[in-house]
Amino acid sequence: MTRPPSPAIAIVIPVYNEEPVLPELLRRLTEVFDGHPDIRWTTVFVNDGSRDGTVALISALNTRDPRFKLVDFSRNFGHQAALTAGLAHVAEADGVVTMDADLQDPPELIPDLVAAWRGGADVVLAVRRSRQETGVRRLGFDFFHKVFQKLTDFPIEANTGTFCLLGKNAVGAFNQLSEKHRFFPGLRAWVGFKQAEVFYHRKERAAGTPAVTLHKLVRYALDGLFSFSHLPLRALTYAGLMIAGLGFAVGLFFIARRLLGIEVAQTGFTTLVTLVLFLGGIQLIGIGVLGEYLGRIYDEVKRRPPYIIKNRHGFE
Ligand code: UDP
Ligand code: MG
Repeated sequence: MTRPPSPAIAIVIPVYNEEPVLPELLRRLTEVFDGHPDIRWTTVFVNDGSRDGTVALISALNTRDPRFKLVDFSRNFGHQAALTAGLAHVAEADGVVTMDADLQDPPELIPDLVAAWRGGADVVLAVRRSRQETGVRRLGFDFFHKVFQKLTDFPIEANTGTFCLLGKNAVGAFNQLSEKHRFFPGLRAWVGFKQAEVFYHRKERAAGTPAVTLHKLVRYALDGLFSFSHLPLRALTYAGLMIAGLGFAVGLFFIARRLLGIEVAQTGFTTLVTLVLFLGGIQLIGIGVLGEYLGRIYDEVKRRPPYIIKNRHGFE
């Protein structure tokens, strides 16, 4: 596919209490923009209910430099909702870069993403060669990627996150998706198109603390799992079949023993208690798994919008 000689590239950045990193982010973004005057740059910040000076900073910036725009939510709706809103506000762009505000995704990589897109790819993934997370978070990431890879029909590249460039057609496809529980990397794999990869080293967060808590990460991982796989349900069916089969065999065994007149002492209390607890546990897990799907279905049928916008700065 041929690319326009002077393309419009939009950058979508969700921000939640990012005041400490914004000056540095703006400095580095502007540097990248100035280095590539052949590209028409815009940046759409989506403020996800920040309680610090984030909004004041960006709206003041917008009056000075209209390339920086702001979509301001009425409250905190989450990272995924912010990404969704950002993508809905860049329909005219030829390509859209999505990235985090905390400089873990280096702005200096954007020209490389654009170059790969100009080379013909519709979706360019920024792939981490290294990541800084350690401890529980790190273990969690690795475990999630292993499980996710195995379970779904749309495997995501293990070392990718939200940092990527989406061509106009991929953005169009994204904006048609109406689901509420969103798992961006999975949906990106799902929409398809020609993909390319660009490698980089992921840094520590430049300032502030991670706004995505471990609890939110777990929820995000579950969203990914349940919206891209029916395997948990199927696993229950299999477990049920296996246990029923086992029960049947044990039943036959006892009947045969009785018919053959083999008498045994009445014991087996421990066995009974173990079985009751085991089966009760399996059933509760089953209800929990059903509940995960049911809750998601409920959220989808309510058809609430994924976010509410309070204000826009820099849009006509
Ligand atoms: N973020 C957001 N809403 C939230 C939490 C985070 O918009 O409720 C933004 C945040 O400002 C940052 C990006 O999402 O630009 C990723 O957040 P963070 O760096 O805290 O996550 P992590 O790097 O730990 O995944
Ligand atoms: Mg981060």
